[in-house]
Amino acid sequence: MLFEGLAEKLQATFDKLKGKGKLTESDVKEAMREVKLALLEADVNFKVVKDFINKVKERAIGGEVLESLTPGQQVIKIVNEEMTLLMGSSESKVTFSSTLPTVYMMVGLQGSGKTTSCGKLANMMKKQQKKPLLIAADIYRPAAIEQLKTVGEKIDVPVFSMGNQIDPVNIAKAGIEEAKKNGNDLVIIDTAGRLHIDNVLMEELQNIKNEVKPQEVLLVVDSMTGQDAVNVAESFSNQVGIDGVILTKLDGDTRGGAALSVRAVTNKPIKFVGMGEKIEEFETFHPDRMASRILGMGDVLTLIEKAQTTMDMKKAQELEKKMRTQQFSFDDFLDQLQQMKNMGSMKEILEMIPGVGGKQLKNLDVDEKELVYIEAIIQSMTKGERSNPSIINGSRRKRIAFGSGTSIQQVNKLLKQFEQTRKMMKQFTDMEKGAKKGNRFK
Ligand code: GDP
Repeated sequence: MLFEGLAEKLQATFDKLKGKGKLTESDVKEAMREVKLALLEADVNFKVVKDFINKVKERAIGGEVLESLTPGQQVIKIVNEEMTLLMGSSESKVTFSSTLPTVYMMVGLQGSGKTTSCGKLANMMKKQQKKPLLIAADIYRPAAIEQLKTVGEKIDVPVFSMGNQIDPVNIAKAGIEEAKKNGNDLVIIDTAGRLHIDNVLMEELQNIKNEVKPQEVLLVVDSMTGQDAVNVAESFSNQVGIDGVILTKLDGDTRGGAALSVRAVTNKPIKFVGMGEKIEEFETFHPDRMASRILGMGDVLTLIEKAQTTMDMKKAQELEKKMRTQQFSFDDFLDQLQQMKNMGSMKEILEMIPGVGGKQLKNLDVDEKELVYIEAIIQSMTKGERSNPSIINGSRRKRIAFGSGTSIQQVNKLLKQFEQTRKMMKQFTDMEKGAKKGNRFK
């Protein structure tokens, strides 16, 4: 779970507050001491923690909060607001230039996820009707060019490269010319990284920046490196100058120190976050939603957006029609499962639902394997069986169980569930028909 350690501790502290009808000044002070420890353990920058706690205390220890009807809730609200402010208050969008193409320059240390993020960003922009071109200007890391080409192929975005013998400044310039020629309105330059900050790298990046004058210099940092990521961000910000940060590997970050300190330390906003290795696992960063997730309040907006971008709307409409006319088959069921999977793991989805985060999620054993079995069972059915499950008799069940490596009980269970779903759909449509005829209250 995202920032698991931090989220658990904060939520435990707030549970105690919520349980009290009246709060005293010392209750709040005690809670703030716990919040402070939790933030420090999460590797949030020391100075950032101090400022944060002071601000919350100042607002929370007043008559207005303590004497309100829901003092616990009020304190949590203040923490939520201050945490949102800490991460930049509102979404910080990337901008586009008036003369085309818009140029984004991606910088960062080796292994931070820079090349992957180039592809993810290009893919996101493509969905927003842009025509991106990727430029391979990392000529030092072996295989960097090939890696970018592979990513480009996957998302069907062209990649401009000139091998590894030409100066990156010239590659970048030539790439931009190529974009103009081909009508690409956006270029994303993948630059070289190093294992550590060094002056030669910084100089090269400055040269590219001076020559191509990018609209946005985006720094990619690995959130799992905590305060190191923040220090890297500070160096790049001072030496190259950046416009925003892309925080990667948030999916594996149980602490959250980088996410909570990078903005306050560098004064540069986090613009995007990487949430996994897959191309789609990339999100716009919303400080308010992130704060809600950390405090266990869910994130319904992101969930809806995810559904909208991963679900095929045309398919959804067809499906609705099939449900209404009782033509819903196992093929459709399989399709649904696959679309769900594109949205992320069951746990990731549940985590965004208010009230499900934290402790509850830990106790909830979401069996992802179950889904794999269901898929295998459906895939072992013939076309006829999928559209008309009533023909699946005893011997067919045996064959399907054998073919899918499951048991007859598992096959039976799925068939039963499917039949129940169909029945339920029929009831709904019957009810709807009844209501339309105006005889609902008869
Ligand atoms: P570069 O050296 O900065 O170009 O880094 P790469 O793009 O090659 O990424 C390094 C590794 O991090 C690869 O194995 C990526 O799959 C992985 N990676 C990148 N972004 C993410 C992310 O958001 N989550 C996870 N879990 N892995 C990521």
